[in-house]
Amino acid sequence: MSQLPAKRFPLALSEVIDRSGKRAASPARTGTSGSHRKAGATTAAAHAKAGAGKQTVLKEVPHEALGLTSERIRQRLAQRLGEGGIRDSRVLAAIGHVPRHRFVDAALANQAYEDAALPIGHAQTISKPSVVARMIELLLASGRPLDKVLEIGTGCGYQAAVLSQVAREVYSIERIRPLHERAKANLRPLRVPNIRLHYGDGRLGMPLVAPFDGIVVAAAGLEIPQALLEQLDIGARLVAPLGGEQQILTLIERTGAHQWRETRLDRVFFVPLKSGII
Ligand code: SAH
Repeated sequence: MSQLPAKRFPLALSEVIDRSGKRAASPARTGTSGSHRKAGATTAAAHAKAGAGKQTVLKEVPHEALGLTSERIRQRLAQRLGEGGIRDSRVLAAIGHVPRHRFVDAALANQAYEDAALPIGHAQTISKPSVVARMIELLLASGRPLDKVLEIGTGCGYQAAVLSQVAREVYSIERIRPLHERAKANLRPLRVPNIRLHYGDGRLGMPLVAPFDGIVVAAAGLEIPQALLEQLDIGARLVAPLGGEQQILTLIERTGAHQWRETRLDRVFFVPLKSGII
């Protein structure tokens, strides 16, 4: 695990204040549910021990639309994902915390807490919450603190926001400039201090920031780019959909300098991983 000097992130705006105007306390990041698997429990313990960064608290600016600011509707989504098999309480807390309706068009806001992918323009989609949760849970199950995480395919920025709740630093790359700009605009009012957004071809990763404690690829390719495999720290995990029409969520664990273990998991459907920038 690498230790980075404290940094000022571009999205750092100010101290986080909760809605009642008080300084926000660190919300539930630790602690595991009763049915928590061993690996997750170890992770929580490792977090507590390493004190791996305080959890970032999203500040939600009042949003009148449809009364969706209510925490309750998000909690219900988190509860449904829990019933659907997501066990890691840190992931469920993050899903319960991030206002997904702020990442989609106002016309779709009333569908934001359904477990569905929704269009975000430019022929792209915001991923299904259950898939976002699954991928992040798989990263956390490495049992190591997520100091530095890389996401390929920022889209509207939702998954980056969820990741920001369980990782110390989140780097996210998007190849479509208007989406990169939109993600910035979506995240700014939420005051997320630990996300760095980059415009570029994510297949190249970020060699200057690597190694990463986890990598999530949010678009499907036929193979995992070698650059990303190389930028994974030893012991860290990468989660990516692999395939064309038929895709399989694939877990890669770097087991040594020249060794990676691949496990094929769930059938999924993602937009394609493309090369170059537009
Ligand atoms: N993470 C998003 C999902 C966005 S959809 C969420 O929170 O819901 C996947 C995104 O991957 C699209 O915006 C697409 O433009 C982007 N993408 C595809 N290929 C890419 C590449 N090579 N580099 C960076 N982004 C890429």
